[in-house]
Amino acid sequence: MDLITSTPQSTESSITLSVIVPYFNEAEVLPKLHERLVAVLDNMEERCEIVYVDDGSRDNSLHIVENFQSTSSIVRSLSLSRNFGKESAMSAGLEYSRGEAMVLIDADLQDPPELIPQMVALWREGFDVVNMQRAHRHGESWFKRLSAAAFYRLLNTLVKSTIPENVGDFRLLSRRVVDHINRLPERNRYMKGIFSWPGFNQTTLTFDRDARFCGETKWNYLKLLGLAMDGITSFSIRPLRLATFAGALIAASAFFYGVVIVLKTMLWGDLTAGYPSLMVVQLALGGIQLLSIGLLGEYIGRIFIETKQRPLYLVQSIKEKPAVMVFRAMEKRA
Ligand code: UDP
Ligand code: MG
Repeated sequence: MDLITSTPQSTESSITLSVIVPYFNEAEVLPKLHERLVAVLDNMEERCEIVYVDDGSRDNSLHIVENFQSTSSIVRSLSLSRNFGKESAMSAGLEYSRGEAMVLIDADLQDPPELIPQMVALWREGFDVVNMQRAHRHGESWFKRLSAAAFYRLLNTLVKSTIPENVGDFRLLSRRVVDHINRLPERNRYMKGIFSWPGFNQTTLTFDRDARFCGETKWNYLKLLGLAMDGITSFSIRPLRLATFAGALIAASAFFYGVVIVLKTMLWGDLTAGYPSLMVVQLALGGIQLLSIGLLGEYIGRIFIETKQRPLYLVQSIKEKPAVMVFRAMEKRA
């Protein structure tokens, strides 16, 4: 087998594919996910590992996962010390996986595991990143679809590197891309942006995203709004520039309006009218000022968090089960 890059970590273990599953309170769906995942990986030639990352689940998800096993794949269970959020859980998964290619997949079966062989085939063709784009978003309200579309539009006008629209976290990354991502020092990890930042050979596959198998989404609109803000402020400083432009525009118009007022007073005397226009100008200016200060605060907050340099996550335990029938695994390896 050709190794695209060979890091000491990967040659040592000779795992070809790591499937990373971050999960948070997914006890109902995990057995079904594991069953489908194993069925897919069993039929693949590659030597695989499944890396489950428990993002501080409060139900018995971790217990369920620790009892998982597979005939052909190594099952690794990583548990974080508390809920750090999906972005951190994914970072943990990427750092603790040893494959030459990695696939990130949601636990809720919205991303069909059956597509993994296609993704791996594209990687074999030489692609470093296989983005999975949703053709349809089943089981999502019109409001979520509309807000998602508006968000991607806004993000891509603000950010220089294009972040593909409707591509979730389901994707394949090659070892060299993951190595670069793992080396990024930032604490604030907006993964959709981070994944497209390294570049390399990217390709996109379209698929139908299923509705959640069971349980509920872990994101409410407030959290999504926070994620959107994170996405924009961690990948672009254009909003700051916009605030500067708006300020300059308003200052220039104020200057000209000032000239008009002075001329009017000189020609026709002081009429002292205009309470409404005064109020409007004052309120508009006040609003823009507050907004700009808030915006500044967002960026300063980000700097504050970065300067603390706290780890992204803490690992509580790692458990690993080798493939149950060892000779199968050896066969695969040969
Ligand atoms: N998830 C996680 N940590 C969290 C929230 C979610 O690891 O704090 C996992 C969750 O278990 C699932 C994936 O991230 O595997 C996607 O979450 P969800 O389905 O709630 O998001 P949506 O598909 O609605 O965007
Ligand atoms: Mg989901």
